[in-house]
Amino acid sequence: MFLENNFKNIVKRGWIELISGSMFSGKTEELIRRLRRAEIAGQKIAIFKPEIDKRYSEKNIVSHDSKTIPSMPLSDAKNILNHVKDIEVVGIDEAQFFDNEIVDVCNTLANNGVRVIIAGLDMDFNGNPFGSMPALFAISEYVTKVHAICMKCGNLAHYSHRLTATKKLVELGEKDIYEPLCRSCYNEIKANESSEPELFK
Ligand code: ZN
Repeated sequence: MFLENNFKNIVKRGWIELISGSMFSGKTEELIRRLRRAEIAGQKIAIFKPEIDKRYSEKNIVSHDSKTIPSMPLSDAKNILNHVKDIEVVGIDEAQFFDNEIVDVCNTLANNGVRVIIAGLDMDFNGNPFGSMPALFAISEYVTKVHAICMKCGNLAHYSHRLTATKKLVELGEKDIYEPLCRSCYNEIKANESSEPELFK
């Protein structure tokens, strides 16, 4: 479990933490857990999410276990900097959907003494790195990979397999649209879906 120092009233120092994994891996739950601990430590927190994610609520980030915390939906990353006066801890949920400016925004915040906690999907449904997540991995001091459970075999899941045929990169959804799979089960399903010859069989 990630345990943090709370530097309130001692020295102003910022850093970036990243929480990443597949769908249903508990990213948002972990983000909420850390933010709640910062609140208990008496720190001022603010939470942002991209406007694209309207699955449950306009103003709250909601994890799959229905814990909620008030958040601000924003259409572009740079706008975060307009809403952080006197804020000590910034949480960012679904970071993969923000534009590329999110990388500079996180560095600017951390350079100015803010603790930044980012949660986001590491890979899209094709298994490719998602949006600015690779850059966010690179600039973070602390990286936590979380894992769902593979729906086929019960091992740790690594991929978000899409159950529908749509090829759109962004298809918001729940367990009706995505299932977490381990590498081996994901590859097996992909091999069956594809008509290409299997090179490594
Ligand atoms: Zn599996």
